[in-house]
Amino acid sequence: MKLLEIKNLGKSFDGVEVLKDISISVNRGEVLGIIGPSGSGKSTLLRCATGLEQADKGVISYEGSYGLVFQNFNLFPHYSVMKNITDAPIKVQKREKAEVYKEARELLKKMGLSDREKAYPFQLSGGQKQRVSIARALAMNPDILFFDEPTSALDPELTGEILKVIKELANENMTMVIVTHEMSFAQNVADHIIFMEDGYILEEGSPEEVFGSSNERMKMFLGKFC
Ligand code: ADP
Ligand code: MG
Repeated sequence: MKLLEIKNLGKSFDGVEVLKDISISVNRGEVLGIIGPSGSGKSTLLRCATGLEQADKGVISYEGSYGLVFQNFNLFPHYSVMKNITDAPIKVQKREKAEVYKEARELLKKMGLSDREKAYPFQLSGGQKQRVSIARALAMNPDILFFDEPTSALDPELTGEILKVIKELANENMTMVIVTHEMSFAQNVADHIIFMEDGYILEEGSPEEVFGSSNERMKMFLGKFC
């Protein structure tokens, strides 16, 4: 069953086309990996897909709701970890407080952060902040979770802990769209990969197809990571 379908998406900034005729679809339980050089339009695609940016052309259709995890965590600095996680479910979704807190504690446990619920973002490591922001997204019970380079603000040691969490979510069949520069991770966790360049999808397919591609541009890009 398709949870997200994007058809012929186009987006320009100041007359410059940064997304050109992008079509993707994501089925329930599927992980879509998006790779490609800086400036190729990956973040703009995610921002259009999630309504943070208005597309100029194309159709975006969803079944269900989505959550978003950013590169720079985007936690509320003046809220505790617990309040960061529980605020939207209580205020936006109008869910019962006790139940939201119970679920938040379960999420914190899963993220290995049970002892940090009263901490503030400035007291956390980058990896911990990112795990809080994943917990915050999951607390809304999204059908799809979008990640925009979730590890690129982290050093290699902390990157591993975030990739492990995302891998676990994939094993639980969470539907995810992940923009990443971690090539071996993309290869390992994604069911389908798109390679973007210059606002286009240059190559797409299974990890085997994309990473085994004979396209010269693709090989050059991947070569930089090996
Ligand atoms: P990526 O995430 O792949 O690095 P982006 O989607 O951030 O690429 O950017 C694609 C292109 O769109 C870049 O040339 C970038 O400078 C441009 N761009 C992105 N956001 C804006 C914006 N709000 N205004 C003008 N140009 C933008
Ligand atoms: Mg980006």
